[in-house]
Amino acid sequence: MNNKPIRKIVIAGGGTAGWMAAAALGKLLGKRLDITLIESDEIATVGVGEATIPTMIFFHKLLQIDEKAFLKATNGTFKLGINFENWRDVNEDYLHAFGVTGKDCWAAGFQHFWLKGRDKGFSKEFGTYCLERRAAEDNKFQHLPNNGLNYAYHIDASAYAKFLRSFSEKFGVKRLEGKIDKVNTADDLSAINSLTMDNGEVIQGDLFIDCTGFRGLLIEQALHTGYEDWSHWLPCDRAIAVQTEALQAPIPYTRSIAQESGWQWRIPLQNRVGNGLVYCSKYMSDEQAKQFLLENIEGQTLNEPRVIRFRTGRRLKQWNKNCVALGLASGFLEPLESTSIHLIQQGIVRLLRMFPHQGIMQTDIDEYNKQTNFDVEKIRDFIILHYKVTNRKDSQFWRYCQNMTIPKSLAHRIQHFIETGRVFREGNELFDDSWQQVMIGQGLIPEQYHPIVDMMSDEELERFLGQIELNIERTLQGMPIHNAYLDHYCSN
Ligand code: FAD
Repeated sequence: MNNKPIRKIVIAGGGTAGWMAAAALGKLLGKRLDITLIESDEIATVGVGEATIPTMIFFHKLLQIDEKAFLKATNGTFKLGINFENWRDVNEDYLHAFGVTGKDCWAAGFQHFWLKGRDKGFSKEFGTYCLERRAAEDNKFQHLPNNGLNYAYHIDASAYAKFLRSFSEKFGVKRLEGKIDKVNTADDLSAINSLTMDNGEVIQGDLFIDCTGFRGLLIEQALHTGYEDWSHWLPCDRAIAVQTEALQAPIPYTRSIAQESGWQWRIPLQNRVGNGLVYCSKYMSDEQAKQFLLENIEGQTLNEPRVIRFRTGRRLKQWNKNCVALGLASGFLEPLESTSIHLIQQGIVRLLRMFPHQGIMQTDIDEYNKQTNFDVEKIRDFIILHYKVTNRKDSQFWRYCQNMTIPKSLAHRIQHFIETGRVFREGNELFDDSWQQVMIGQGLIPEQYHPIVDMMSDEELERFLGQIELNIERTLQGMPIHNAYLDHYCSN
């Protein structure tokens, strides 16, 4: 398609997406490439995005980022999962943890054993058999051998961008402060040629990475790539965010509290708490949201509450011509399962694997977009599940969610689970055990379990479940309180 070797990379935007891309390209390909990142002090970053999932650890390993340095720089805490409060119904909770629940056997997932135990009256709550969930509830944390405890982080997003900036600059990434005034394309829109800054300077590039946030300055405003709207499935379209002082030591999980027309987050950092309300503007005004949030937080606010508008969906192509969109420029699902930063790093790693050193090939573009679409659709379905499978009928918002049509792929997964108790991970999709945890957590109980479970006598099954619980309890006994461990870990 374009046999021009790719040497000069221009990253437009210096939020989390821009600096993650700069860090990875700088560290891994910096010797071959000339990389410039442009950011504007006049245009703020979105300023949220503080909960992550375990895949961030792999991204940092790839970049050889030291975990302690990262946690210190970002006031980070450990995260073992998300506590979903009032989602299944008002006053009912469950914790979606990063670990695996119980023990599968070759023929059947653990949920089948749990289901039979439940029928017989000796299974405890599903999460009882998950170490990460129990550690979160007990406010405990420790690195265990062989990655024995799955975890992620809560981080200060602005501090993370700064941390990655100094990391990237060590690998030769150049930073240019200023506002991009114009995106210069070929007449037939077959490529972006350069960016003109507001001081008239022209920045040439071979490959452009659009990290300009929701505005999608390059991918949308210049290349008119198009957007697929998913707001009929994910109807929340606003968020209001505010930071508060920390009144207690940080807990190792995010809180997601379903409210009348959306949900509220609490993200504990070492030095403060990130709070926000995600809501649907059809059922709640910005003023009502602000008032609600301020009445439902603890501690002094540290900044002015800020409304963020968004439209859930995805860019039709994340890679179009010589432009790759990452982060909010590529689309946004919504923050319920903290998956956006994960998608940024997936995009970066995918780009590294298909990097067009010798020129841009349409087959690479198509493959990149195909893989990205797969990832995003699976995560989309998983997020919709939380809204759709609920007993809440107490507001117009929840009645809408309960009655909305859902993607066929999700409808099939739910029906399959109800009828058989089975749930399968599709290809390389992100979530695995999470499907069982959230389906059961939201109140779905399958009609039957796998008959292989009947090969165990009732006594054997009771012993099997009891042994899993006992092993977890033994591990928990030796585990320190999260904050004590974090303090100690970061001070060494
Ligand atoms: P932004 O942060 O918006 O950065 C855009 C950059 O582009 C800025 O540097 C700006 O200066 C620059 N720019 C724009 N226009 C110009 C111009 N003309 N000239 C020069 N520079 C320009 N993700 C998670 O993984 N976990 C979460 O818990 C989470 N929570 C979220 C909560 C909410 C309410 C929202 C809306 C998002 C959340 N996300 C979360 C998503 C996450 O915030 C983003 O994926 C992440 O911050 C990346 O943003 P970004 O870098 O794409 O865009």
